[in-house]
Amino acid sequence: MLQVSRYLCIYFCLLFTFHAQASPLVISEDTVNLTDFKLSYFIDDSRSLDIEEVTRQSFSPTGNYTTLGTSAKVTWYKLQLRIAGTTAQQIFVHLPYAYHVRSVAFYEFRGATLTHSEWLDMNDAKDSPLMYRGAVVYPINMVSDETLTLYVRSHAYSHQWFALNLHDAEGSKRALIGAKTDIALMVGMMLALVFYNGLLYFATSKKENIYYSFYLISGLLWIALSYGLLANVFGWYGDRVFMLNLSLITMPIFLLLFVMTIFETKRFYPIEHRFLQFMLILLSVTLVYGLFDISGALKPASSLAALMMIITFSVSISLYRKGNPLVKYFLIGHSFFVLFNGMAVLFYKGLISPSYISHFGVGIGIVLEALTLAFIISYRIKILEDIRHSQEELKRQAATDPLTKLYNRRYFYSEADYLLEVAKTQQEPLSVLVADIDHFKRVNDTYGHQMGDRVIVEVATTLKKFCRSKDLIARFGGEEFVVLLPAADEQEANKCAQRILLAIQSLVLITDEQDTLHFTVSIGLVEVDNSTETIQMAVNRADKALYQAKQSGRNQICVQQMPDN
Ligand code: GH3
Ligand code: MG
Ligand code: MG
Repeated sequence: MLQVSRYLCIYFCLLFTFHAQASPLVISEDTVNLTDFKLSYFIDDSRSLDIEEVTRQSFSPTGNYTTLGTSAKVTWYKLQLRIAGTTAQQIFVHLPYAYHVRSVAFYEFRGATLTHSEWLDMNDAKDSPLMYRGAVVYPINMVSDETLTLYVRSHAYSHQWFALNLHDAEGSKRALIGAKTDIALMVGMMLALVFYNGLLYFATSKKENIYYSFYLISGLLWIALSYGLLANVFGWYGDRVFMLNLSLITMPIFLLLFVMTIFETKRFYPIEHRFLQFMLILLSVTLVYGLFDISGALKPASSLAALMMIITFSVSISLYRKGNPLVKYFLIGHSFFVLFNGMAVLFYKGLISPSYISHFGVGIGIVLEALTLAFIISYRIKILEDIRHSQEELKRQAATDPLTKLYNRRYFYSEADYLLEVAKTQQEPLSVLVADIDHFKRVNDTYGHQMGDRVIVEVATTLKKFCRSKDLIARFGGEEFVVLLPAADEQEANKCAQRILLAIQSLVLITDEQDTLHFTVSIGLVEVDNSTETIQMAVNRADKALYQAKQSGRNQICVQQMPDN
């Protein structure tokens, strides 16, 4: 009877103990690599409780990898460990995210006795044997059947996110060596984009390239800082780099400036522009505030990020509905950004449990958006190039005659005036010839308008063939052509006119009725008097010479001498 009541007593005692606190984590195997287990936590709102007082508090269960938001600056984690086997074990407690907190402390109890404690201030932890590349590694020696209680105090700057893993000696080395390659890849990609974009800026001098570069630099800085690359590679953590968290505010600022510039919101979308401006002001105020109190400025950072996403997303949908051709690509990239950042915001606020995606959401979102923004920049260059191309085409169309593709009268005069100036400064001769098809009306009347057109095209082709590339050939209307010959005096121009005249004489066209059609031109020619004449005056003189050629029987060249000065 006594025996039974003794067992019952032990049973109830055990039950009570189990109820009051989580059961210890039992380590029964030789190899230890524990990255997913339960522990418990307690938030010290006063931030001043000592370990004695903390041991009397009630702890709530959570995972070994947890996030508790901004109102859990000082949080205590409690873990009970027991070795099941018979051999002693050395266990390494890893805090892989120690680089992002102000300080951590360890209190190790065997039974009710505090056997060891460590306090690490991150500003002063460089030489601590517990510190390894931004991670804290705390070794524990355990003997069999012993229960150890470990309290870890984590004092965060703003957001409390925390992981505690347990490894044996081998696992500990592996965990430390294999860290951060994914983050290095993200940062490397973004650095490559910064260089690419810098080159693009030198080529195009567009403001959006500058904003995009600063967006990238802010993004990669924040990724390198927040995901521990700076701590891992350079051993940078604590107060001296905490200021770099300002990049979390400059990043959306540069993204907004980029959006405003690339979509030209000020000019084309004034309402949307106001919303973006409002967000920009809000962020700028936070940035200035952050210069003095970065922890304080980071507190609303995740809410600001949420607001930023709502505004930019709504603005891009609005731009999309208004038919902006680029914005659909931005929407795709921004959807990734919003999706992954949304998860990250929930992570930092402690509203969802941590996972690779939620923890690294900001980084993944930034990289995906950065890639689409790079695409938008290139695509915009293509659009601008297309516009330039079609403008040039329009200009060409406005300057040429559709039937012969020769220049028209308007273009001829604008270009000829310039060539006259060149001739004057270089003291070179300049000649003008006017050619008119003889009895052209008859061609039209006998064989029809279409045949007339063919004759006009043939004459144009012959002019192109026998003139030099620097000569300016124009169709002045009807069946009248004008050629300006730079660096050609009257004699030179006459030779050219002769060749044209003879070539046209020998042309034969076969009509629809299988008749052969011959035709001729008459040409009036003058050498421009550089010192007194305008092109218009020279053309008028050449016209007079042409009239003479017609009067004298057609199919000939008539030259008007330069007027005596
Ligand atoms: P001349 O030897 O004195 O130059 O006699 P012509 O018949 O060539 O002169 P005229 O100026 O009387 O006739 C020119 C004609 O050219 C009148 C017009 O119907 C015709 N014409 C003007 N433009 C075009 C065109 O683009 N295509 C065709 N097929 N005919 C045209
Ligand atoms: Mg004619
Ligand atoms: Mg005519």
